[in-house]
Amino acid sequence: MAYSQFDRVPNHYAGPIIQQIKDFRLEHGRRSLAPTALQIGRIQLLVPRHFGFCFGVERAIHMAFATLEEYPDRRTYLVSEIIHNPLVNGELKERGVEFVYDAQGRRRVAEDELKSDDIVLIPAFGTTLQVEDSLRSSGIDVDGDAYRERYDTTCPFVSKVWKRGEELGSEGYTIIIHGKYRHEETQATHSHTKEHAKTLVVLDCDEAEKVASFIVGETSVDDFRAHFSGKWSEGFDPERDLERVAVVNQTTMLAAETQRVTAILKEAMEQRYGSDQIEYHCADTNDTLCYATNQNQNATHALLQSAADVALIVGGYNSSNTAHLVEICSHVMPSFLIANSEELCSAERIRHFDIKERKVIESGGWLPDAEEIRMVVTSGASCPDILMNQVIERVVALCGYGQADIEEGLANLCLFEEDV
Ligand code: SF4
Repeated sequence: MAYSQFDRVPNHYAGPIIQQIKDFRLEHGRRSLAPTALQIGRIQLLVPRHFGFCFGVERAIHMAFATLEEYPDRRTYLVSEIIHNPLVNGELKERGVEFVYDAQGRRRVAEDELKSDDIVLIPAFGTTLQVEDSLRSSGIDVDGDAYRERYDTTCPFVSKVWKRGEELGSEGYTIIIHGKYRHEETQATHSHTKEHAKTLVVLDCDEAEKVASFIVGETSVDDFRAHFSGKWSEGFDPERDLERVAVVNQTTMLAAETQRVTAILKEAMEQRYGSDQIEYHCADTNDTLCYATNQNQNATHALLQSAADVALIVGGYNSSNTAHLVEICSHVMPSFLIANSEELCSAERIRHFDIKERKVIESGGWLPDAEEIRMVVTSGASCPDILMNQVIERVVALCGYGQADIEEGLANLCLFEEDV
């Protein structure tokens, strides 16, 4: 049976433990956000209701592998990493795919190296209009229907944000993009949206507060410019262009944070203009939030009451949505972002990515030395299940258990809420 609804997603990205957990959830607690409990000896592993590959990631992987199978003799490129996972990008490279831009945004394949019959795949988070122009200059038919259907893997939920930005821009709103300025998706959204609207990128609630403070007249235009310079579209004038705003997001940001950013700006508009015509000043854009990001984040929030001792979050170091899962878990338990099972060096040492310092570090004492351990294991939207599966196997082995114990645990899966 195919691992995914998309038949070209490689079956080796599936993991047998994870698959059994998913099958269990098809039968039990489909609508519940309670995590699944897998008891193996003295370790209780809690797996959230939603984790791993989202629709957009599976679709992009399917399109990339389908292209390689269907056109084995054509040179195939990716604008940049198709998703933020080293295993998937590595396998595409092994299959001969070259990346036009590297992970740091440096151009690696010159415009004149690309030929009109080359295939250049656009990644799941889309790309900028400048990159599309450059591909046109190389003779690539980026505007053809066939190209868009087969090689443009931009997630439909990202395109939806662009479309909504275009509509709101034509209605006269300035688009506030809640995102990380240098992230590929934010760059792409900024590029597409600024064709139709003035735009400003804000990173978080602190920056939203700065915008709000300017709107209500508590911050000078010079201070505003000093802080946000370069993070707006050409011709943006804060004194003119912050009368009507609409917030959209980089789809992998914390959805709750996007809602707070909107609330902060709405409150400022009410303070400045009154509440009578609040929708004129601050558009309702709730419908642009990605359902998959929301599901994964809500399922992660549901883990926080579990009194777990530690959380392992599996995913790429440069994956924004995975970092947000770490952020959520780390409010209540020690939480480690790991790329794969090899990061679990021993029961004592763990190698992991510190999301604040943005570097790989090694820490000790990650596995509690206790009679009973409760551990959260989850993964980001760009992480193949097999990597999370291997992490579970490694944890089990480090605790002195084996395959028979895993089988016994899988035979007794339950919803965590039933267990307490
Ligand atoms: S997180 Fe949402 S918008 Fe981003 S690729 Fe996945 S489904 Fe698409």
